[in-house]
Amino acid sequence: MRDHNRAEVRVNLDAIAANIRHLMRGVDGDFLAVVKADGYGHGLIPVAKTALAAGAKYLGVALLEEAFALRDAGITAPIIAWLTPPNQDFKRAINEGIELSIASAQSAQAISAAGTSVGKRPIVHIELDTGMGRGGFTPESFTDFVKEIHNFELEYRGFWSHFARADEPERNETHLQIQAFDGALEELHSAGVTPEIIHLSNSAAAIAHASAHRSMVRLGIAMYGLSPDVAHMGSSEKLGLTPVMSLYSNLTLVKSVAAGTPIGYGGVGVTRHATTLGIVTMGYSDGIPRQTSSAAGISQAGKRAPIIGRVSMDQFVVDLGPDSAAKAGDEVEIFGAHGYSIDEWAEAAGTINYEIVTRIASRVPRIYG
Ligand SMILES: *Cc1c(COP(=O)(O)O)cnc(C)c1O
Repeated sequence: MRDHNRAEVRVNLDAIAANIRHLMRGVDGDFLAVVKADGYGHGLIPVAKTALAAGAKYLGVALLEEAFALRDAGITAPIIAWLTPPNQDFKRAINEGIELSIASAQSAQAISAAGTSVGKRPIVHIELDTGMGRGGFTPESFTDFVKEIHNFELEYRGFWSHFARADEPERNETHLQIQAFDGALEELHSAGVTPEIIHLSNSAAAIAHASAHRSMVRLGIAMYGLSPDVAHMGSSEKLGLTPVMSLYSNLTLVKSVAAGTPIGYGGVGVTRHATTLGIVTMGYSDGIPRQTSSAAGISQAGKRAPIIGRVSMDQFVVDLGPDSAAKAGDEVEIFGAHGYSIDEWAEAAGTINYEIVTRIASRVPRIYG
């Protein structure tokens, strides 16, 4: 830990490259590196550069502002932004060569008009809702759109969809989504539109559904070394992935207390025996989940110490055990390779690993190595 950091996220960029190599061994096509949400909390620009160096053909973001941040950093690679609500700065996006997703005739119209006004033909990826029930044309609205598809001044470079349940490999819904996708792709071809880039696989499908790989897969969580679904697909280790993020803090105070001592707000944690408490200098404002059971904790000097009581805004308490030699100022690993995993934290908080890594606050510095 650098002297002045009371907490830090450590990001192992080599692990990103290794995870990509491992995942792409099973994929023939290209890959898009998903770097939305500040690279899943790992840092937008360092992750993007690492993924490009490891062979990413595209970068994928949710928001235009994320795409602009990539361009501002001098990144010239192809970028897709897939959330394109009305009234965004489409002109700037088109001028900066950012490819946009369309999910309605209205968005096609708005992007087409913005292109006309800057004198450039926008590059778009048509999103089909094949069963996610979120973004994309419904199959019916898609059929209507195809009838007027040549009325817009757009270059239709991509056709894509997103899976709802690819992380449950035994379920049939993914195959139904693929069927709906292929049917709509034929409609497009019949209308004389042949997008060059066909993409519908997230990490789970990249790992478990080879028939969905097509020309490009979109790698998100697995690139960061985490399992898309621990219950159905197994742990990072089982999938041959190395978690990229680890989180460190330090002890602001160490003290001995008697058995039966209530800890923190609501007194929901009570010491079962006389013990040593460690107070860790991170809390829910840093992204440590407030509702975290003692199934999570920290590792200090190679030994696990479970959380006790509720997490506060800037601190939480761990039970270091009666014989602990820890002292204030000692470094602790909150999650990482030595003690608790991100998946253990997610489970203890009743959530998924995606939420744990994306919610570590921006005020916690990211250290790259
Ligand atoms: C976030 C996202 C992904 C990546 O999903 P993972 O499960 O993290 O691999 C892929 N495609 C779209 C459209 C997304 O929004």
